[in-house]
Amino acid sequence: MKAQAPVSHRGSGDRATDGPEPTERELGENSLKTFARAVEQSPVSIVITDPGGNIQYVNPKFEQLTGYTSREAIGQHTRILSSGEKRPEEYRELWATINSGRTWHGEFHNRRKDGSLFWERASISPVLDEQGALIHFVAVKEDITERRAAENELRVAATAFESQEGMTVTDTNGVILRVNRAFTRITGYTAEEAVGQTPRLLYSGRHDEAFYGAMWERIRRDGSWQGEIWNRRKDGEIYPEWLAITTVFDEHGQVSHYVGAFSDITQHKLAEDKIRQLAFSDSLTGLPNRRLLLDRLHQALAASARNKRRGALLFIDLDNFKTLNDTLGHDKGDLLLIQVAERLADCIREGDTVARLGGDEFVVMLEDLSENPEDAASQAETVGEKILAALNYSYPLAGYECRSTPSIGVTLFSAHQNSIDELLKQADLAMYQAKAGGRNTLRFFDPEMQAVVTARARLETELREAVLKNQLLLYYQAQVDCAGRLTGAEALVRWQHPRRGLVSPGDFIPLAEETGLILPLGQWVLETACTQLAAWAARADTAILTMAVNVSARQFHHVDFVAQLRAVLDGTGANPERLKLELTESVLLNDLEDTIAKMVALKARGISFSLDDFGTGYSSLSYLKRLPLNQLKVDQSFVRDLLTGANDASIARTIIAMAQSLGLAVIAEGVETEAQRDVLASQGCQAYQGYLFGHPAGAESLPYFTTPLETP
Ligand code: C2E
Ligand code: MG
Ligand code: MG
Repeated sequence: MKAQAPVSHRGSGDRATDGPEPTERELGENSLKTFARAVEQSPVSIVITDPGGNIQYVNPKFEQLTGYTSREAIGQHTRILSSGEKRPEEYRELWATINSGRTWHGEFHNRRKDGSLFWERASISPVLDEQGALIHFVAVKEDITERRAAENELRVAATAFESQEGMTVTDTNGVILRVNRAFTRITGYTAEEAVGQTPRLLYSGRHDEAFYGAMWERIRRDGSWQGEIWNRRKDGEIYPEWLAITTVFDEHGQVSHYVGAFSDITQHKLAEDKIRQLAFSDSLTGLPNRRLLLDRLHQALAASARNKRRGALLFIDLDNFKTLNDTLGHDKGDLLLIQVAERLADCIREGDTVARLGGDEFVVMLEDLSENPEDAASQAETVGEKILAALNYSYPLAGYECRSTPSIGVTLFSAHQNSIDELLKQADLAMYQAKAGGRNTLRFFDPEMQAVVTARARLETELREAVLKNQLLLYYQAQVDCAGRLTGAEALVRWQHPRRGLVSPGDFIPLAEETGLILPLGQWVLETACTQLAAWAARADTAILTMAVNVSARQFHHVDFVAQLRAVLDGTGANPERLKLELTESVLLNDLEDTIAKMVALKARGISFSLDDFGTGYSSLSYLKRLPLNQLKVDQSFVRDLLTGANDASIARTIIAMAQSLGLAVIAEGVETEAQRDVLASQGCQAYQGYLFGHPAGAESLPYFTTPLETP
């Protein structure tokens, strides 16, 4: 569509060029044509309105830009272009300017016919006639959408440049052209100090030339590099940063700049270290934990494969830690462990490892010992003895002075001999040997121990089956009074082993304790004994008999022990008044408060208590007084030597006297001869148990109990 020529609206202009001279006229027409062409072909859009703002003329550029044809635009008010974004006061200012005869310059965010928006920069001027009357406004407008977009981009870029990350822009020679505020905050150098320098300003000296060489190689190849780098702040502090370097290319594809963006990762690194520390160390002592020990052991075996030198593992367990922890409290227990850790660390060389596996278990790993096994063993022994001595000194525990001793198991290693698992087992086993050997001592692992372990492992599997397959039997051994009359029996468990025949409890009770199998086993014993007790009660001649049942530590301290025993009594109908539990000192000392609470609860049901093997343990009066016991059982070792060793006679006498002073009954076990019985009787003992009165025997020999023995 053809735009109308502006001349048609400009009557006054025609008159002005009216003249008699044809040349002038020609001139005038020519200039009008030129003017019209210029307006028509103008690269900017031109709009002419009447004084009210109604469009009278638009040029082709306007049509092109707005999408309105000249025909559609003419007669419309200029506000057809409005996007509604300009505020009323801005319009008021515009009108005030042009109405006062001046030109207004400004920008519009306008709307095309199709609804899309564009930016234009406008100059709007009033057009006056000869008399000075306002006849038009002329607006000359330029599309600045692209320029605005570019400006926006620049603004975004400038904001981004001032981000939290430190930024440097360098030229191709590495000379710094610009840095941002974060750069100053992180490095300490102001923009003035940095510009003109190269990033060498920040070199920490922690990386060699090869590092930087590889970095630039990468930048040249890929256009960018990123990674961790150590730099130096203005104040000299060296810090880690995460740096990304990007190449900037010009429009010809030539490198024009490099931009470096970096963040200070000191905090991040600290957190990482902290996490690593938590994962690999024991929080109480700060020593390496099991995980780290295994890791180091791995490395040690690898190193040993290379240098042929041997190493040693020392397994260290504190002998009385549990009792100490229970009696003094956990905070004191913790203090002790911390001091043990410190002493251990003092006993070793740099490069050796002390780790805490948990509880009171520590492991020391020695490396770089002799190639010769005998020499290596003696080196390990020297360290072991040193540890033994160091841990034997008393420990000051917040006002308390406390003693503790360790049991140490040692095993040597070299790469081709051992697996890690095997090594730990060997050291652990040797440590148990040290415990069995009287504690506060050191034992080396030897292959014979291994045989013991294998046998034990087999026994454990078999014992597990024994409980399930009904291979257990309960024997009963008579207990008599001073007149030899049967008063009751002690239940003694037996294992009817399919190959080995009858196995005695000494061979499997400790294992059952260790593995927890004592719980089902003990439960079975209680049920069987109570069933038997109920059966006796049903017959006149056995109704008065009591039943003594051995209860081991783990069983007694199980949280449900009291409830389970009550359930057994209820289930079997056995009379609790006739039930006696035999406890050992290890049971009592384990957790004194728990022991007392349970004894009191069971005593309330009528159950009585006998202290088994008395005289072999602590035999301390102070705790005896606190325990609601009924009977002391003099251990058979004293009875056995009663007539030969003068000491044992006096011990037996002391025990009996002690029991009497505490108001407790006394029974002697292991009485095999009348002479023994007579001595005991002369010392005041009133009850006996032993081969003299009967061997333990099965339930099938019950008649044995139905005819009370005559006094010999
Ligand atoms: P204990 O409770 O001190 O039992 C006495 C042990 O001495 C029994 O050995 C018994 O057979 C033995 N004995 C009895 N009279 C004589 C004698 O005149 N001379 C000699 N030399 N020995 C005699 P046993 O039956 O081998 O039991 C050993 C230990 O096993 C028991 O010692 C007890 O601590 C434990 N035990 C036995 N049965 C059970 C049970 O059902 N549960 C628990 N937890 N432990 C049990
Ligand atoms: Mg017993
Ligand atoms: Mg005993």
